[in-house]
Amino acid sequence: MNFSWRSRSTTNDGLLDQLKGYGIVKDKRVEAAMRAVDRAEYCVRGSGDPYTDQPLPIGYGQTISAPHMHAHCLENLEDHLRPGGHVLDVGSGSGYLAAAMMTMVKGKGGAVKGVELVPELVEFSLENVRRANPDLLSEGLSLEKGDGWLDFKENVFDAIHVGAAASQVPPALVKALKPGGVMMIPVGVHEQYLCMVTKKEDGEADVERMLGVRYVPLVRSRSVEQKQM
Ligand code: SAH
Repeated sequence: MNFSWRSRSTTNDGLLDQLKGYGIVKDKRVEAAMRAVDRAEYCVRGSGDPYTDQPLPIGYGQTISAPHMHAHCLENLEDHLRPGGHVLDVGSGSGYLAAAMMTMVKGKGGAVKGVELVPELVEFSLENVRRANPDLLSEGLSLEKGDGWLDFKENVFDAIHVGAAASQVPPALVKALKPGGVMMIPVGVHEQYLCMVTKKEDGEADVERMLGVRYVPLVRSRSVEQKQM
């Protein structure tokens, strides 16, 4: 896939037209979700052009991912982002992708749980959703402080997205997937690959490398004392 393009749109719809035109967004539900969540509302004002295909700083050394990476993850998870689905977004940052996934699973008890290590970014993401997509909060979206390396309940998520690169696939996240569930996660330290992890019926993880990427690291921290589960 060729991602070496730069959108020069001035609106979110223009950005989506380009992502579609380049074949990066193909699925109608992914397209609708990305149209419903305006990227500018999840960027820091003045940090750069939100409708250009580039990551942008959101403070605390973190970035909102580039639109093509969001699109790529949504396209790969699409089959598991059905109304009623349960989803975990680890390193939810700006809240953009959690909001987009929530628009895809809402109804029939669907829910997205975003966990983020930096409390100020949890606040930032909540402000963004409250301003731009407030209905999602009553429809099942939650954004809270949490650590992707710690334990979650077993066999609960149809889909997991991880927005930061892990040195290895965290066993706790494989445990948290339902059998048949799928996780998109960047893995690696010096060389990183976006991987699609499928949990088989016997509980084993099948890991498929998709493409070389550059993400911020999934930080190991002992400072999150809350009990997650
Ligand atoms: N999808 C988000 C990505 C944000 S960057 C977006 O597009 O806005 C990755 C985020 O992962 C950062 O906000 C960082 O603080 C967070 N992070 C890093 N290590 C983490 C961990 N162990 N648990 C939860 N979040 C973590």
